[in-house]
Order: sequence, then structure tokens, then C-alpha cells
Amino acid sequence: MSRVALVTGASRGIGRAVALRLAADGHDVAVNYSASADAAGIVVEEIRAAGRNAIAVRADVGDAAAVTGMFESVENALGRVEVLVNNAGITRDGLLLRMGQDDWDSVIGTNLTSVYLCTRAAMRAMVRARWGRIISVSSISGISGNPGQANYAASKAGIIGFSKSIAREVGSRNITVNVVAPGFIETDMTEGLGEETARMVAEQAALGRLGRPEEVAAAVGYLASDDAAYVTGQTLVVDGGLAL
Ligand code: NAP
Repeated sequence: MSRVALVTGASRGIGRAVALRLAADGHDVAVNYSASADAAGIVVEEIRAAGRNAIAVRADVGDAAAVTGMFESVENALGRVEVLVNNAGITRDGLLLRMGQDDWDSVIGTNLTSVYLCTRAAMRAMVRARWGRIISVSSISGISGNPGQANYAASKAGIIGFSKSIAREVGSRNITVNVVAPGFIETDMTEGLGEETARMVAEQAALGRLGRPEEVAAAVGYLASDDAAYVTGQTLVVDGGLAL
């Protein structure tokens, strides 16, 4: 069934792959971005070329007013949001003793407060329609912790607790709330970590390699589909067996 989906941080990486996957599954897609207007425009063109409707919508998802404006734009252009994918995220890594409050606030704002703002903005119409899908992208760092990522891991663990709570709040309205927790996926975010780190991580994963954005998008596609109608409050780990 064709739905309207909003994917945050869909100009690059995992979000881009999710937007393309949801379009391939028959949905119209709002492609959110914060800085990469050209890249977001290309994703929109790809979706339109594939026969679905799409718009690019600029908003810093950690900013309440920007999120309100984003939902207005999407509703005017495509209709109410039925599938929300909270994907936008950043890292500001550093050991705790050297982690300034800016690094803490920006990561919590972009990765976690954004999930609160966007989910709340999507919820009213979903409750009214008695149908909705909320899928948020966490990380195995939020499950296992990771030295140098206290801010990031806290934001990603927060997404899991948030999602379980909201799943219980809105389950009776036929709205499912789930989380996908990727391991090490080849995107701009991980490129800066260097070849040596990538090789070590690949060796540690049971499947012996890094993940691709499309492999995370497939999990999101499943959770957005009717096949996942009875799945809620769950965290689906997509890490090639890295955190086993
Ligand atoms: P990425 O390649 O760095 O892309 C990040 C995306 O988020 C971009 O589209 C970016 O938009 C957007 N974004 C950043 N700040 C934003 C803001 N304030 N408002 C709106 N959009 C914003 O990252 P990625 O690797 O695809 O990661 C996507 C998600 O997966 C993140 O939540 C990340 O934590 C999670 N994750 C990634 C990995 C991994 O190995 N890559 C592993 C676990 C979890 P602009 O281009 O406009 O800046």
C-alpha cells in the first residue's frame, strides 16, 4: 500500500538508502536534510524517476520551530506523514574528560531531541488515522556502549527507551514504534575512522565485512511494511554479528 513517508537526514548515507527503499516499496517520500541541498535534490530526482512523488525539505531536526515547519511543508506537498523514519544523526567523539558540553548538547539535540520532536509532530495525525509507523535509527553503541562515544551512546540508548515507551502509549491506536540498530556501515560518518579501523571492525563481525546502507534500509522497509504489523517496541540489530 502506498503511504507518505518522511525520512530525516535522507540526503546521504543510510537515510538516502532508506528513502530510495521506501520509494521502491511504493511510498511517496519527503527527503529531509540540513545542509546538503544538492544531494537531497538528487535523491528526490531518483525517486521521481522511479515513479513516486518526493520533495526535499530543509530542517535542523533538533530545532523545534524547524520541525514544525517541516511537517507543515510535507503535509501541504504530500499529505500527512504515515511512516516516520528518524534517521538524522551526528557524532562528536571524544573521551569524557575532554568532552565539552557543546559536544554533548549537539549530539543529544540532533540524535535524541529530534526523535522526540519529530515523533510528537507525527503522532497526532497517526492517532486520528489509527495507523502509523515510527522507525528510529539507533546504533549498537547505544546497546553495548563505546569508549569515546558517551554522548552518542547516550543518545542512541535514549532512542531505545523512548521507543519502547511510545510503543506502549500508542499500540492501541495501531501505531508501531521500532528501532533499527546498525553496526558499522560504510557511509560518510564512518569514512573518517580510517582503513585500519574499518579492517579491524570487519574482522570482528561474524560476517567478516562492513555493512552497506541498503542493508539497513531493508530492515527499515520491513518494519514499515504490513508484514511487520504485529512487531512493536523492538530493536532490530543490523550489524553482521559485530556485537555478538
Ligand atoms: P551520514 O552519512 O553522516 O549522514 C547523516 C545524515 O543526517 C545526512 O543526510 C545529514 O544531512 C543528516 N543530518 C545531520 N544533522 C542533521 C540535522 N541537524 N537535521 C537534519 N538532518 C541532519 O550518516 P549515516 O552513517 O548515514 O548515519 C545515519 C544514521 O545512522 C545516524 O543516526 C547514525 O547515528 C546511525 N548509525 C550509523 C552507523 C554507521 O556505521 N554509519 C552505525 C550506527 C548508526 P546533511 O547532509 O544535510 O548534513
